[in-house]
Amino acid sequence: MSGSLSTGVNKPVDGNLVDPAAIQSEKAAQDLWTRAIDHLRGRLSRHTFQTYFEPIKPVSLEGGELTLAHSSKFMIDWVRDNLLDVLLQDLEAQYGSKCTVKFIVRERPGPDEAAEAPPIPESRPPITNPPPSDPPPSRQLQINPKYTFESFVVGPSNQFAVAACTAVANAPGKAYNPLFLYGGVGLGKTHLVHAVGNHALKQNPNCHVVYLSSEAFTNDLIHALEQHRMPEFRARYREKCDILLLDDIQFLSNKKQTMEEFFHTFNALHEGGKQIFVTSDKLPTEIEGFEERLRSRFQWGLIADIQPPEVETRVAILKKKATTDHIALPDDVALFLGTHIRSNVRELEGSLIRLAAFASLTGAALTVELAQDVLKNILVVRGDKPDVTAIIKVVAEAMQVKPQDILGDRRQQNIARARQVAMYLTRKITSLSYPVIGEKFGGKDHSTVINAEQRIEELMGEDPELSRIVESLLRRLNG
Ligand code: ADP
Ligand code: MG
Repeated sequence: MSGSLSTGVNKPVDGNLVDPAAIQSEKAAQDLWTRAIDHLRGRLSRHTFQTYFEPIKPVSLEGGELTLAHSSKFMIDWVRDNLLDVLLQDLEAQYGSKCTVKFIVRERPGPDEAAEAPPIPESRPPITNPPPSDPPPSRQLQINPKYTFESFVVGPSNQFAVAACTAVANAPGKAYNPLFLYGGVGLGKTHLVHAVGNHALKQNPNCHVVYLSSEAFTNDLIHALEQHRMPEFRARYREKCDILLLDDIQFLSNKKQTMEEFFHTFNALHEGGKQIFVTSDKLPTEIEGFEERLRSRFQWGLIADIQPPEVETRVAILKKKATTDHIALPDDVALFLGTHIRSNVRELEGSLIRLAAFASLTGAALTVELAQDVLKNILVVRGDKPDVTAIIKVVAEAMQVKPQDILGDRRQQNIARARQVAMYLTRKITSLSYPVIGEKFGGKDHSTVINAEQRIEELMGEDPELSRIVESLLRRLNG
């Protein structure tokens, strides 16, 4: 990282002035960025804008190259993959001639910069840096007011969980104690934990709700031990707590001392008639490295599961989310997304945001075709391995032939080549045998598949262009 990263005014450092050229270039970058982004702001939903653009910091502008910094590599990749064209258009319009964009990952300001850097905006995405050396005594997290029962869509996959959570929120410590909620990632466990907290607080604003992840609990314990503040720790989780919401309890596994402390916390709360609500990605009996006595405690109350939502629920979730975010989502697009994105709700929401951002930036209408186009990578690699149809589709598109041609018998060179590439990739990606692949490629003989595989292997040694295409397809199909 260069000195030009500091985002301050011309301040003396050790009696010397900061390099004026760097300041100039940083100021120019800020100027250009502010203008471009002002224009973008009006065209994007507030959420998209805040998530993707606001946290970006202009760093320098030199010879038409604008350097932008963001703390998250993931976000940078996302903006680059989805929004770079539109962004460049905007920048060039403001800059008045061609420009390029360079992204850098910038962590929190270093010690030198800290004094000069402006405060980190609230909207910045969570930072995964190590905690500061002297953290606040309590790492209790805020309850998110957006995660309520009202904003949670109920369907057959989650109605049992919702009923259990509602009962607990209405009568903490009385209905089911403890409540143990388990289910796969992105299915709404954390949402329900917050919903219980929100609901209980609404009913009784004086209620002490303590919400945290089990990692935070572990860290808090470590700090309390280090700083000889165990009495405060115990007060926080035992006396000053009416409802303990502990998210992702599986992270306690193999942490002996934390489990020990949690065991005593549990007992104290339970004896005092205080509610305990924990979530996990597994059943108590399936969490490895978990103490038996804790496991058996969880059997005292109710164990509820949450399953992946059915397509109707997925569509309903999309519609609700679209309404909240002011996205005009046509029914057929909602159905398309709900049908194709199945693994979890987080991914479902992500795809909607991505699609809406793309549509509003490019001015394109939100249609099924656009959805297909924007989400093709996700749709193909949706978690599990792509099947033959998906492979053929991707190859056909990349090599500009029709999927039917790949399945057919025409020997025109570009078609034959695409067919060979698709067969080669099918061998690489799936575990299907030659005869089965032949069968799936429109009933071809297994020797055709073997030949295709050998031919592509040879060609990849001779033809760098083909080799590049095949490798990029392979990467894409493998996610
Ligand atoms: P988990 O904790 O199980 O990994 P989260 O609670 O973080 O999952 O849910 C992921 C995202 O999906 C959140 O934004 C949440 O609001 C949303 N979500 C999950 N299930 C539903 C649902 N049934 N209705 C509305 N939103 C949901
Ligand atoms: Mg969660």
